[in-house]
Amino acid sequence: MNVGFIGLGNMGQPMARNLVKAGHAVTVFNRSRRRAEELRAGGAHVADRVAEACGGEAVMTMLADDRAVEEVVLGSGGVLGTLAAGTVHVSMSTISVALSRRLTEAHALAKRTYISAPVFGRPDAAVAAKLLVVAAGPSHAIERCQPLFDAVGQRTVNVGEDAPAANVIKLGGNFLIACVVESLAEVFAFVRKSGIDPAQFYELMTGSIFTGPVYKNYGRIIVEESYTPAGFKATLGLKDVRLALSAAESLNVPLPIANIVRDHLLTAIARGQQDLDWTVVARLVAENAGL
Ligand code: NAP
Repeated sequence: MNVGFIGLGNMGQPMARNLVKAGHAVTVFNRSRRRAEELRAGGAHVADRVAEACGGEAVMTMLADDRAVEEVVLGSGGVLGTLAAGTVHVSMSTISVALSRRLTEAHALAKRTYISAPVFGRPDAAVAAKLLVVAAGPSHAIERCQPLFDAVGQRTVNVGEDAPAANVIKLGGNFLIACVVESLAEVFAFVRKSGIDPAQFYELMTGSIFTGPVYKNYGRIIVEESYTPAGFKATLGLKDVRLALSAAESLNVPLPIANIVRDHLLTAIARGQQDLDWTVVARLVAENAGL
């Protein structure tokens, strides 16, 4: 397929690379051009402007946050204003449910097609084309984009016609992961202060009753204290916890654990750890335990 890709960060760059590898004709755009140029040798076409990436069968956006999406999609010369009539906009960033709703309405008003397709999986999963894609929007458009999802992920789940539903599921999933990170941080502080080898505890738990990838992957980072390079920066973690809190609050749903994780991430960022992996909350929890 002829596809545009906008936003070549830790996730977007390997995703775009996998689209090229799968044989798609890919036009890439990134605010900092260097990240786009790195894909030229692999066969991607490097766009000078957003508009150049918006004329194929689809354009995928993988940007940091609501602000970036508002600028790049709704801003002047942005995706919505330059999207060709037959081009599907596939929004893969983790953004607020409210912005996804606004984007759904704005695309409908402009008679353009919008799919929300956020992903689960860290940059290593993006490199290995093993992401889980959660897609929502018009089913004919999702079906049309399936070859693109197949190039970046191992599985696509279609969660219905209402695009923001995919964002709710993504934020719900990330909230669950945040709870696991917090509980891992707390248990490793407890174990370490008790004089138990954290690596031994990690092997025992992840080899028996906590075998899921979230426990294994995040547990390993905490045991090895390998917070850099960040797979998912503390700032992005804070963003997602806030998005879950805000979406839940709009429905009068309290998320008490999310408040704790929010404060821990905020403290880590206040201490200058904004670019470390969000599991760095484990360092803070350990310090709070006198370690
Ligand atoms: P990242 O490495 O920080 O990359 C962010 C991208 O957004 C870069 O291409 C950046 O351009 C662009 N950007 C930021 N602000 C912009 C602005 N105002 N205007 C234009 N472009 C802007 O983030 P990432 O880890 O790839 O994450 C991307 C999205 O995927 C986020 O919504 C994140 O929550 C989600 N996600 C991440 C993971 C993960 O583990 N990392 C997993 C699943 C989902 P520059 O290169 O010019 O800065």
